[in-house]
Amino acid sequence: MAIAENIKSFNKLLSPTDTKLIAVSKTKPMEDLLQAYEAEQRHFGENKVQELVTKSEELPKDIMWHMIGHLQRNKVKYIAPFIHLIHAVDSPRLLKEINKQALKNDRVINCLLQVHIAQEESKFGFDETELFEFLNSDELRSLENVKIVGLMGMATNTSNEQQVDQEFKGLRGLFETIKSNISLPNVSMEELSMGMTGDYKIACASGSTMVRIGSAIFGSRNY
Ligand SMILES: *Cc1c(COP(=O)(O)O)cnc(C)c1O
Repeated sequence: MAIAENIKSFNKLLSPTDTKLIAVSKTKPMEDLLQAYEAEQRHFGENKVQELVTKSEELPKDIMWHMIGHLQRNKVKYIAPFIHLIHAVDSPRLLKEINKQALKNDRVINCLLQVHIAQEESKFGFDETELFEFLNSDELRSLENVKIVGLMGMATNTSNEQQVDQEFKGLRGLFETIKSNISLPNVSMEELSMGMTGDYKIACASGSTMVRIGSAIFGSRNY
């Protein structure tokens, strides 16, 4: 029952700002997802293609699936028929492959560009220069079966809240800059995916529109 309660309290918490809750269900069994579903949760996030595909086949069809993890190009084809939103597009080559697979499936796939905002080396994503280079490229214009609907970022994993706040505010700034300066048919800045269990409050205060919450809903993960 705890899962349903957690969903409800997040919804209450997020409703004043209209922030969407993505329930990050990676590593969790079907029963846990069903409990969330019964509490009317419809947006679920996974970070592994195989697991996402298996769960999507077994669970109700009105679930909207979010791919939140690093995506390899050779795996795009498995999620292209049904994925609701791909959060972590971190290279032009990946977006090109998504476009190709979307075309094969006769659909337009919504994507977020992942921006590298953390200090850690290991995190994926465009840096600011690469981001604007790509947004101004002719290559992007030609990709008619993808739509860039916003940005995604992960802050540094630190207890320094001021640093996290700065990183999220920086991302929000980029989002606003793109919104007011880039005019392309397949770019529309609507969603800002930032915030997880440890930092969603800071993210919401910086204008997040989507929080990706795993452990605070489903409990900690045993990998
Ligand atoms: C696992 C994961 C989350 C959720 O993490 P929690 O700390 O459990 O809320 C959010 N975003 C991404 C990209 C993840 O991989």
